[in-house]
Amino acid sequence: MNVRKMKIMAICAHPGDAFDDSGGTLCHHAERGDEVIVVLLTNGARSHAALFTDEKRKAKGQRDEKKANMTVEQIEQVKADEIIAAGKELGITDIRFMHEEDDILLVKEETILKVADLIREEKPDILVTHHPEQEGGLLTTHPIVGQIVMLGYEAAGARWTRDETLPPHQISQVFFIGQVNAKAWSLAHVYHPHWYVYVDIEDVVDRKIKALDHLKSQRYEGILARKRIEVADGWIGTRVDVSYAERFIPMIPEVYKYFPIEQSTLDKPKGWTDRVHAVSKFVTHKVPFEGKQIL
Ligand SMILES: [Zn+2]
Repeated sequence: MNVRKMKIMAICAHPGDAFDDSGGTLCHHAERGDEVIVVLLTNGARSHAALFTDEKRKAKGQRDEKKANMTVEQIEQVKADEIIAAGKELGITDIRFMHEEDDILLVKEETILKVADLIREEKPDILVTHHPEQEGGLLTTHPIVGQIVMLGYEAAGARWTRDETLPPHQISQVFFIGQVNAKAWSLAHVYHPHWYVYVDIEDVVDRKIKALDHLKSQRYEGILARKRIEVADGWIGTRVDVSYAERFIPMIPEVYKYFPIEQSTLDKPKGWTDRVHAVSKFVTHKVPFEGKQIL
C-alpha cells in the first residue's frame, strides 16, 4: 500500500461491532503503523449483556444473585474490560467509550456534537461506521449510530458549531460496515448496499476469532465466534476467491490517475483448481478456545 501513514477512526454502536465487521482490516492497519482508534458509542449494557440481563429477569431463588444485581455501571466495566482484551488480540489499543445508553438510542444534537468534537480533536483521515440506511435507517441501533456519525462528520467539517473551540476537520473517506450485523428484514428492502471494497483477512482470521472469544457477556465466544466468522467472512471470501474477507462501502468515489489494480490481483493464480484451493481453506474450527463456553 503506497500511501502515507493514516489515522483511522471506527465509530460503532456496540462493543463488538468494530471487531465483528472490520477487525481483520483494522488489524492490518495497526500492523502497518497506522493509528487506529475504536470508539464505542453505546455501553452495550442493555442490549448486549445477556450474561447478566437474563439473570435479572429470573425469579429470586432461580437466579445467580451476583449477576442479577449488577448495575449498569458494573456491566459497562465488564464489557469495557472484554473489549480492551479483544482489541489487544488485534493490536488495537486505543479504544474510547462514549457511554450512551442503548435501550433506546435517538439521534440527538448533543451526541452529534460530541462526535463532531472528537473528529475535530483527533483529525482522522478515514472514518469507519455503520451505514445510516441499514434496516431502513430505523432499527438495531446500527443505522441510528450511522446517522449520528454522519451528522457529526458533516458538523466537524463544515459547520460553525456551538461553543466552537477547535478548527474544522475534513475526513478523506468513510467506509461503511454492516456485513455481519445487517438483518434480512423487509425493512431492509429499501437498502441496497453495494459492497465493492473487499479486504483479504486470511492472515489474521485466527486473531479475529480470539478477539471475539473475549466477548463473553454477550455470548459471542467459542462456537459462535468460529461459526460467525466462517459463515460471514468465509462466505464473503468465497465471493472474491479468497478464504476469508471483510467488505465495505466507501462513501466518496475514489479518483485515480490509472486503473486501480493491486499487484496481488495481477499475480494471483486464476485457474479453476487454484481458485477452489483458495476458497477451501477452513481454519476457524482449528483455533482452540481456551475458556469455558458460557451458554
Ligand atoms: Zn452491534
